[in-house]
Amino acid sequence: MNIENTQVAVIGGGAAGFLAAISCKRHNPNATVVILEKSAKTLAKVKVSGG
Ligand SMILES: Cc1cc2nc3c(=O)[nH]c(=O)nc-3n(C[C@H](O)[C@H](O)[C@H](O)COP(=O)(O)OP(=O)(O)OC[C@H]3O[C@@H](n4cnc5c(N)ncnc54)[C@H](O)[C@@H]3O)c2cc1C
Repeated sequence: MNIENTQVAVIGGGAAGFLAAISCKRHNPNATVVILEKSAKTLAKVKVSGG
């Protein structure tokens, strides 16, 4: 699918959210993709597990 002006909001800046956003952008480079994270830190659990 490659639709112009596609806007995607991913809720949650954890591992799954980042992978989903990256995959979305790769498959649809024209899409606007944002990650909405409720806390002040993204990827907190990834960092705590050693990156
Ligand atoms: C201490 C610890 C050590 C770990 N070590 C390892 C390891 O060594 N190897 C391994 O493979 N896995 C490890 N894990 C597990 C791995 O980190 C998790 O499985 C992975 O982070 C899950 O990713 P996730 O994106 O599903 O959820 P999360 O990482 O929990 O991300 C979800 C995000 O969504 C945000 N969020 C929630 N609700 C909302 C909302 N309403 N609006 C906006 N944002 C919201 C949260 O703040 C969070 O940032 C560890 C986990 C912990 C806690």
